[in-house]
This record gives sequence, structure tokens and C-alpha cells, in this order.
Amino acid sequence: MSTLPDSTQPENEGPDHERAYMRWDGWGDPARAHGLPTGVKLLLAAVLGRVPKAPPAPRLAEVTISTPPLADDDLAALAKAVGGDHVDAGHDVRLLHAGGKSTPDLLRRRQAVQAAPGAVVLPATEDEVAAVLAVAGERGLAVVPFGGGTAVTGGLTPDAGPHRGVVSLDLHRLSGLVALDDLAHEATFLAGTTAPVAENLLAERGFELGHFPQSFEFATLGGFAAMRSSGQNSAGYGRFDTMVTGLRVVTPTGTLDLGRAPGSAAGPDLMRWFLGSEGTFGVITQVRLRVHPTPEARLFDAWTFGSFAAGVDGLRGVAQLGTGPTVLRLSDEAETAVSLAQVGSIGKALAKGCTAVVLHEGPAELAASRREATARVLRAAGGELADPRLAASWDHGRFRAPYLRDALLAGGVFCETLETATTWSNLQTLKAAVTAALADGFAGERARNRILCHVSHVYPTGASLYFTVIAGLGTEPLEPWERVKSRVNDAIMAAGGTISHHHGVGADHAPWLEHEIGSAGLRMLRAVQAELDPAGIMNPGALVDRRLR
Ligand SMILES: Cc1cc2nc3c(=O)[nH]c(=O)nc-3n(C[C@H](O)[C@H](O)[C@H](O)COP(=O)(O)OP(=O)(O)OC[C@H]3O[C@@H](n4cnc5c(N)ncnc54)[C@H](O)[C@@H]3O)c2cc1C
Repeated sequence: MSTLPDSTQPENEGPDHERAYMRWDGWGDPARAHGLPTGVKLLLAAVLGRVPKAPPAPRLAEVTISTPPLADDDLAALAKAVGGDHVDAGHDVRLLHAGGKSTPDLLRRRQAVQAAPGAVVLPATEDEVAAVLAVAGERGLAVVPFGGGTAVTGGLTPDAGPHRGVVSLDLHRLSGLVALDDLAHEATFLAGTTAPVAENLLAERGFELGHFPQSFEFATLGGFAAMRSSGQNSAGYGRFDTMVTGLRVVTPTGTLDLGRAPGSAAGPDLMRWFLGSEGTFGVITQVRLRVHPTPEARLFDAWTFGSFAAGVDGLRGVAQLGTGPTVLRLSDEAETAVSLAQVGSIGKALAKGCTAVVLHEGPAELAASRREATARVLRAAGGELADPRLAASWDHGRFRAPYLRDALLAGGVFCETLETATTWSNLQTLKAAVTAALADGFAGERARNRILCHVSHVYPTGASLYFTVIAGLGTEPLEPWERVKSRVNDAIMAAGGTISHHHGVGADHAPWLEHEIGSAGLRMLRAVQAELDPAGIMNPGALVDRRLR
């Protein structure tokens, strides 16, 4: 086991390396923004007709912040906790921490007046996190933990609740590898480590985590744990919460160190309570994770199916037999058409049915034999091997799609995603219910729309459904979507789905949580919050509908 000498100085860029921010009114690195491929432009024109271009977002400096910065004595008390250089109440920095990256978040960035936290505080150690929570508790300030800032369900909204102001607790300086147990295949990271930094640190040692959500390039390990994220290789490596073997969490009333053994019957599993707690119980400061040796082979395949139903049968067969792909995803007819439009001439040859992308990884011989076993199941369901360039193009573009959304918004096209999950027996019913709610919800300027869907997280008993909706942006882009989303959430609940398979609850899904877990479940959550955070300072806008707190 290689443990680094001092966990406050882990191996990484160090706590004072510069914070790289994403484009504030869009996704990712501004230098990598790109326009729409011609095929997509043509497809959109055919489906949506002519849509007027959207006015650009105001420049950061032009936005008026509706909420005041923290008072000088609050800032001085926070500076005592983390050092004056690490407390920032500047206009731009506050706006950079004003929310996540859902489409409604990005549409709010286009408004002239916006809410923002009163200050941003950047602790570098667990003790500093505890000191910030103590100051916030004493001074009546809410604390919103901020990882990569990629949340899409409103969990970063600077909601003060009953408190005087909001501190955004940016975990960026709490970054690095604390320990790698190369015998047990376990790695411990500080929670603010971003996914690419974690993968690079592991790769240098011959290991990989294998958690690749589409937000991979910016999201943090603490954020994945707090949200119960699921990545594109979940078929093989599991969702993030199944990778977690230990957690350290600082709460306003004490620190917990959870996950003592790989299996335990020491009462209920308290660690699970913090997975999905969305910053409302405390701050996750360290995450211990199951890792695996860097795969020797990566074997990509693309398959086509005559229908979504046939493809779903194939995926179910693979998940239930356990043939071991790491990526297993199936696009419906509409999503297949859009994906093919992006890959131009390769796509034209295959513009029918549904495509699936499958990846097998690991030691070369094992990966090859698993690939054969998967192929037998997919063929039996009516699948045919397709041009392998389709899989290569998915792999190449897997982290570029969020940039596409920016190009769509700039071109006057609304684009948002939502997701749920259910059993295989109920999958088609749920898909039909969500599709109907989306289609019925839009009217007027958005009556012409396109609904795409894919399955990308599979289990022996069921799967997730991930929807993308594209429509004209219209003159009132925000309000109609809130209405439609509410109808869709009702439809998901009525059709037996979960309110979220991996985007979490945040503020947006909180009103539906009671339907999902019942009033006794909600009382349990509130009881834990009351015990760990009696003043209710931890992320008051997220998880539990504030009216019920
Ligand atoms: C383009 C795009 C693609 C996405 N793709 C996926 C995907 O494929 N799969 C998926 O699961 N999700 C996806 N997401 C959603 C998002 O990336 C995940 O929810 C991710 O887990 C958030 O991590 P983060 O570090 O950015 O956390 P943040 O967005 O900073 O925070 C998310 C929530 O967790 C809390 N939090 C953050 N860090 C901590 C901590 N250390 N302790 C306690 N609370 C904390 C915050 O207060 C907030 O409530 C996507 C989002 C976008 C914008």
C-alpha cells in the first residue's frame, strides 16, 4: 500500500493551482466551443422549420446581482478560517458560483439581474472545512458545497433559506490522491479532485477508475458521491455509488469516517446515507474508491436493430446473462437519426433502425471472449454488427455533446435532457408516458419538437431511460419548460419510474421526492438533517422541499 506522507499535501497540482472556470453562460472550455455540423442543421431545419436566433447572453461584467455580498465582518470571520486570499466576494466570482449547467441555468444566465452567493470560500483542508461550517453556523449563513459546478437539477442554487446569506464552499483546493492500495485496488482522493485529474493520477500508477459521465471533464469525485452519479461505463464498473468503499464527511456537528471493511453487518450502512445527500448533511472531504488495472484491450462495436424494442431485448439479455460489457447503450430511432446526422457520410449508409454501442475491456483474451458472448445474445435478438466507425465516432465525440447544446441555444434551439429508470417489464410503458407528456406539454412556438431517447445504464432487473428534447427556443424560453417538466415528472411518477436515475433531486425534483420515498422516508431525511445540521445551514434549497423542512 502506498500512502502519501501528509494527507493535507496530496500528490497533485497542489492547493494553490489556479481555478479554471468553465464558460459562465455555457459548457466547458470556451476555446473548444464549436458550431453545428451541417447534417444537424439540415435535420433541425426539416423538423423545427425556421427559428429566430437567440439574443446573446450579457457579458459577465454587465449582470446586476440581486443579492448583496456578505458583510465585512462575515468575510473577516471566514478569512480567519481559510486565509484572506481564499475568500472572494467579487462580482464575477460570485456569478461563476451562481448555479449549475442545466438548460434553465444557462437561460437564467441570459437575464440582466441574477442571484448569486454572498461570497465564495475555498478551503484547502478538512479542518478548514470544519472551521467554515462553524463560522457559518455562528453567523447564520447557509453553505452550498460547490464541486465542479455541473449540477443539472438546481442543487447549486444560492438559496439562503431562513438565513442571512449564502456561502459557496468551493472544494477545488481540496484536491489530490491521498492513498492507493494497489493490493486491495482501492484509491482515496480528496473530494474536490476532478475526474480527469483522478484518472491521470491513477493512470501513472497503472490503474483506472472508469467513471465517465458526460460531465467527466469538469465534475469532481465529491460531486459524484453527493449526487449518486452514473457514468457511460456503468455496465461494467457500476454507478459511482457502487464504486465508493469509504467516505469522510464533515458536518456542522462532527466528522464521520465511514466504510471500515469491504463487507459489514455493523448495523445499517450509514455510508449509503451520504451518497445522494447533495450537500444537505455535510461536506464530503474524502472518497475511497474501488479501482481496476488499466485495461489492456478496449474493443468497441456498433450494432443495429430493426426497432427499439428488439434492441431493448438484446440489452436485457446481455445484462441478465452478465456477459460483461463496460459500455452498453442503445439509441431509439429518433436519436439514431440525429447521431447519424452528426457523422455525415458514415451515417448515410446506415440511416435506419436503432444503433447500439458496446465496449468490452480488460485483459485481451477475457475482453475478446466476453465480446463473443455478448455478440451471441445481441444476434439472437435480431442485432447486426454495424460499421465500427459508428462506435469510434461515439467514443471520439462522447464529451463534445454539451458544446453542441451551446451552439443550439445560440441558434435559437431549446435543448434539454431528463432521465429516469424502471424495470425491463415497465420500460416501454414508461418511455411512452414520458414521450407523451413531453409532446403534449409543448404548444405554440414549440409545437414542433423532437424527442430523442436512449438506454445507457442497465441492470439485470431494468434500465435507465434518457430523453433529449429539442424545440424552438421561443420568446419565453424558461417558463414553458418549467410547466412541461412538471407534467413529465408527474407522468414519471404515475408510470412507476424514479424521479431520477442519476441527475439527483436538487431543487427541481424536491417536490416529487415524497411520492418516491413516502412521508416516513422524508421524515427520516429530515431527522438526519436536524441531527447533523440543527441550524439547517447545509444547502437549504436542495433535496428536501424547503416548505417541508
Ligand atoms: C453536460 C452535462 C452532462 C452530464 N452528464 C452526466 C452523466 O453522464 N451522468 C451523471 O450522473 N450526471 C451527469 N451530469 C450531472 C452532473 O455532472 C453530476 O450530477 C455530477 O455528479 C456533479 O458533480 P460536480 O462535482 O460538478 O458537483 P456540483 O455540480 O458542484 O454539485 C452537485 C451537488 O452536490 C453537492 N456537492 C458537491 N460536492 C460536494 C461535496 N464534496 N460534499 C457534499 N456535497 C457536495 C453540491 O452542493 C450540489 O448540491 C451532467 C451534467 C452536465 C451539465
